[in-house]
Amino acid sequence: MSHVRASYRPHVVVVGGGFGGLALVRKLARTDVDITLIDRHTYNTFQPLLYQVATASLNPGDITWFLRAVRAKQDNVRFLKGTVSQVDHDSKAVILEGNITVKYDYLVLANGVTANYFGIPGAEEFAMPLYRRSQALALRDLIFANLENAAVNGQDRDLRVVVVGGGATGVETAGALAEMRNLDMPTTYPELDKRRIHISLVEMGEHVLAPFHPNLRDYAKNELIKRGIDLRLKTAVKEVRRDGVLIENDGNQEFLPAGIVVWASGVAAHGVVKDWGVPQGRGGRIEVDEHQQVRGIPGVFAIGDISVNPDSPLPQLGQPAIQAGKHVAKVIHAQVSNGRMPKPFKYFDKGTMATIGRASAIAQVRGLPRLKGFPAWFIWVTVHVALLLGNRNRFATMTNLSLKYLLWRSHNAIVGETPYVIANEPKIVSGTDIESVPAKKAARASRKSISKKAQVRKAAAQQTIDEIDEPRS
Ligand SMILES: Cc1cc2nc3c(=O)[nH]c(=O)nc-3n(C[C@H](O)[C@H](O)[C@H](O)COP(=O)(O)OP(=O)(O)OC[C@H]3O[C@@H](n4cnc5c(N)ncnc54)[C@H](O)[C@@H]3O)c2cc1C
Repeated sequence: MSHVRASYRPHVVVVGGGFGGLALVRKLARTDVDITLIDRHTYNTFQPLLYQVATASLNPGDITWFLRAVRAKQDNVRFLKGTVSQVDHDSKAVILEGNITVKYDYLVLANGVTANYFGIPGAEEFAMPLYRRSQALALRDLIFANLENAAVNGQDRDLRVVVVGGGATGVETAGALAEMRNLDMPTTYPELDKRRIHISLVEMGEHVLAPFHPNLRDYAKNELIKRGIDLRLKTAVKEVRRDGVLIENDGNQEFLPAGIVVWASGVAAHGVVKDWGVPQGRGGRIEVDEHQQVRGIPGVFAIGDISVNPDSPLPQLGQPAIQAGKHVAKVIHAQVSNGRMPKPFKYFDKGTMATIGRASAIAQVRGLPRLKGFPAWFIWVTVHVALLLGNRNRFATMTNLSLKYLLWRSHNAIVGETPYVIANEPKIVSGTDIESVPAKKAARASRKSISKKAQVRKAAAQQTIDEIDEPRS
């Protein structure tokens, strides 16, 4: 078993290089501590734009950032790739999968959350969540695999994507898919009838984007409908199956056949947190006090999505994670330098926003009137680009989003690998048509083409023999 030892300076171990963990690490740059930043990935993921990767508008590298690059501006930190499986509070150590023990003086748990399937049968097995880069890529590739298959095999059935959850992620994903269908596919998939491609957005509540002002959420609802999204409000998902979703509205059940189900509904703590010996509250979140210290465990803090102060719960968003990270850095700084403790953590709400698609968004930003349409969308793009880590990511994202939204004729999707398409029945492609042919005719055609190829090969061989036989002059 290898050990990473605490040095003579206090050792701060941070689990999770997300919004919260990185904000804390950076804030501790000038504090007299050694920091070990642990993450199961070598990169930070900018989750708010994951759906843009899933809908082929951004490269995965645009929204991920190499965590070791944090050392470019700070030398009291080192990165350790690993997944924390246990915390031993008595010996002040975290245990990583793969036999690594990391000793700490201060521990900050900033490991975020994951999808909550609410025990709905089949949801975990068949629905696709959007928390990780790999999940966004899997969704993107499945979308294109379905389209390529339909382009060859025809649309004997309608294609449907069901997005579950009418929060920002669900609305943004459904909006982007609708724009892909409405604006890109007539050019890129002329074989397909876009009227037979459906995007359903299923939300249990009465509204999409519930936390927003009624005017703004009504605007969002109308924009979704305008884009041809099949919006199902007050509708609960009862079961997810391999071939679709069973939904219920007002006591009536309906089965929506679907090739893809995107899960954008609800979050919960990672299951492993229950082995960490920490008090867990609603949704498995770790309970903290007014300084984000885990209740009853001095020297151990939790920040961001995984933490909750039961006396003043905060939304699970980027800003609360960043601000809590900075606060805990101040607390640690005060403790190691025998300085003055900061006042209890107070979240400063800068506002919130969501986009539906091209030139369409809503924004409630502190100090500004409520915004919708192009002005809100412009702010949305600016804020998201600014919040990305690293200038390369900012430039790349700005370029890709500008090409997508400002150059109306650009249909250049960022695609990955899709499996080869198997024709359900033999096909003949001639000109712009793909025709199904009866099996016997196809076999005959194939035999003919083989024998024609054989004749060509025979003629070529004969010519070579003739050339060899011919005396050279
Ligand atoms: C699709 C999507 C869209 C979103 N859109 C918005 C938005 O528009 N605006 C907004 O403000 N918020 C948005 N959010 C929420 C926002 O992303 C989160 O609130 C924020 O990321 C929380 O930050 P965090 O630091 O708590 O955790 P995260 O950013 O999730 O980081 C947690 C880190 O911990 C690591 N980790 C997890 N478990 C372990 C382990 N056992 N060992 C080691 N490392 C581990 C993970 O790899 C990850 O890097 C969105 C979230 C999602 C999923």
